[in-house]
Amino acid sequence: MSSPLIMVGAGHAHLIALRGWIEQGYQVPPGSILISPEPHAWYSGMMPGMLAGRWQAEQCRIALAPLCDATGLTLHIGRLAHLDADNRLLELDSGEQLRSTVVSINSGAINPAPPDNDQSLAVIGAKPFADLFHYWQTWQAGDSPEKLVILGGGAAAVELALALQKALPRSQLTLLCASRLLAGHPAGAARTTRSLFAQRGITLHENIAVTAIERGSLRSADAPPVAADAVILATGTAPAAWQPQSGLATDKAGFISIDATLQSTSHPQIFASGDCAALAGCPHSGVYAVRQGPILGANLRAQLQGGPPQLRFEPQPRALALLATADRQALACYGPLALRSRAALWLKNRLDTDFMRSLQLDCPPG
Ligand SMILES: Cc1cc2nc3c(=O)[nH]c(=O)nc-3n(C[C@H](O)[C@H](O)[C@H](O)COP(=O)(O)OP(=O)(O)OC[C@H]3O[C@@H](n4cnc5c(N)ncnc54)[C@H](O)[C@@H]3O)c2cc1C
Repeated sequence: MSSPLIMVGAGHAHLIALRGWIEQGYQVPPGSILISPEPHAWYSGMMPGMLAGRWQAEQCRIALAPLCDATGLTLHIGRLAHLDADNRLLELDSGEQLRSTVVSINSGAINPAPPDNDQSLAVIGAKPFADLFHYWQTWQAGDSPEKLVILGGGAAAVELALALQKALPRSQLTLLCASRLLAGHPAGAARTTRSLFAQRGITLHENIAVTAIERGSLRSADAPPVAADAVILATGTAPAAWQPQSGLATDKAGFISIDATLQSTSHPQIFASGDCAALAGCPHSGVYAVRQGPILGANLRAQLQGGPPQLRFEPQPRALALLATADRQALACYGPLALRSRAALWLKNRLDTDFMRSLQLDCPPG
């Protein structure tokens, strides 16, 4: 039996699409499904604040059952393992097979890992967050690694380093980035971050591309090995293994190629959004995934009702980035400007809590 709609992953774009359908009073056709590995979705924007002790876990995750109940979706706990795009046949990691008329994929990305790994270290992706959350709980309970290394040099890596330094004062933190620190941000953001790292005892090595994890160390062609007890990957985005084998058109890296209506360029019955997809001019970031949400909601609804998807997503050329610095301040970056202030953290908190309030249907309004 075929479902009218299967939504894979409760990423930002899907959550916003569901919120829109609730506001419009739209009910999906009976038999439609949302597949998610967990009964809730973590909100990455608040993760560093949670690790630093600013938020409780419940404030940072969204229960999916109320959103599904309100839109007529069935929540199916599972993980997509393989997609046969030509037949819109989905296989979950349990072996279960599902077929659908329309498929929408918003399952995020994984963190690229060093190509060689002898498994001598605990390697933890920043995403999916549940893994890092589990380690963080163990570390908080007193078993923190002596030497903790974060790989990556973007906003997520910086926020995680500052948050974990605060949470785990007994760990020696090192950040290794393959390029210059915060390369996609204004130069002032990197300067401020370098000085914060120096003040807080976080070791920073820039322009070191780690190619191997070997005998408890991180190895590169450019520098001596760096010893570690645990490694966190905040290395940007790589596609899930099933994506390049799905039959969907992808870019060179394996992200699903989509057009401005958020439909696959090869299979228009399949939509993709957020970090799993490749759209010209659209960076992989939560801000852009959120902005795709209303377009996705409208276009999926049109497709399910037999009409053509008409709304087009035009990525904005720049977006405000707010990096929490684990000291009651945040670093605001916009275009060439970077400024660290309490006002920036106030704004970040405001935007994050408004976002969560609009999606946490299980929480009383407050
Ligand atoms: C620590 C950290 C902080 C960040 N802070 C910010 C920020 O402040 N602002 C910003 O713009 N970006 C931020 N980002 C980046 C942001 O998290 C991502 O760009 C964004 O989450 C992408 O959203 P998405 O809609 O693609 O899906 P995601 O939010 O990645 O969600 C994907 C969902 O799909 C599920 N899923 C995964 N695989 C499967 C599968 N096989 N089957 C079914 N379900 C699956 C996952 O469980 C998850 O719920 C941060 C990232 C990190 C790591």
